[in-house]
Amino acid sequence: MKVTMLGTGAALPDPDRGHTSILITVNEKQYLFDCGNGATRQLIRANVDPSTVDVVFLTHLHMDHIADLPFFLLSGWICDRKVKPSIIGPPGTKEFVDHSLENGAFAVDINARAQFPQRRDSMEMIRPDISIVTPGLVYEDENIKVYADYVEHIESEFMHCFGFRVEAGDKVVTFSGDTAPSEALLRLAQDADVLIHECSFPEEALEFRKKVGIGTFAHTSPIELGKIATQANVKTLIPTHFAHFDTTSPIVKKYLAKHMPIEAVGPEMLDSVANDIRENFKGSLQLGRDLLRVDV
Ligand SMILES: [Zn+2]
Ligand SMILES: [Zn+2]
Repeated sequence: MKVTMLGTGAALPDPDRGHTSILITVNEKQYLFDCGNGATRQLIRANVDPSTVDVVFLTHLHMDHIADLPFFLLSGWICDRKVKPSIIGPPGTKEFVDHSLENGAFAVDINARAQFPQRRDSMEMIRPDISIVTPGLVYEDENIKVYADYVEHIESEFMHCFGFRVEAGDKVVTFSGDTAPSEALLRLAQDADVLIHECSFPEEALEFRKKVGIGTFAHTSPIELGKIATQANVKTLIPTHFAHFDTTSPIVKKYLAKHMPIEAVGPEMLDSVANDIRENFKGSLQLGRDLLRVDV
């Protein structure tokens, strides 16, 4: 089992980090978890042909987790995909895919390409099978079983948000999606070999937000994350979904100014995040970065 972090950033465009996306490889079969902006290009950089990735899981429908999905599907189509893709996602996934492709945003593109017999004959490759996640076992094949549960991110009347537990033989990888500390996620992560968990803001940013009165939000702090990883007894923790606090870009910094003390923003903030996680977690810690690879 292999984990490749394709994108490890949050919602802003960031020259140093792509939007969220994770590839899990088991017996040479590829499974994609979230498909934020840049995911398809990152697959190529990881030496994986996007047209060979047949199964996609979506934690929730925030754009930093799905922005690349239409491009991923269209790329597979023009790269001669052989297997119809499957997408397992929250309520709204069917509508998102439907509105994105031949019945919506890319109708003109697809119609023009479909004038060529090779494309016309493979239209099924951009008509994915979609199943809607509910808590419990959501996927099973010869390699993996995937379990899902609700996590604490957005009120469910607006959006359903899930975490996933992937079991491959006796190996377990859990992915939190976006969430505040969550009992359900603790269960999904119990005794995992790898926990990939969001850690959007450093403690300094949270204090700053409190001080300037920016409202509540549903993410997990480094101190909380260390406690979660210890409580769930995970071997390796990969914090990810960094909200650009380590950016070197002056443009991204400009947009961060209302969220954190701007003079602290930069790569050195990763040290304080790691130190804060370490207060409560003594296992293996691999800070997320794009194209980080972990063999499980
Ligand atoms: Zn996000
Ligand atoms: Zn989100």
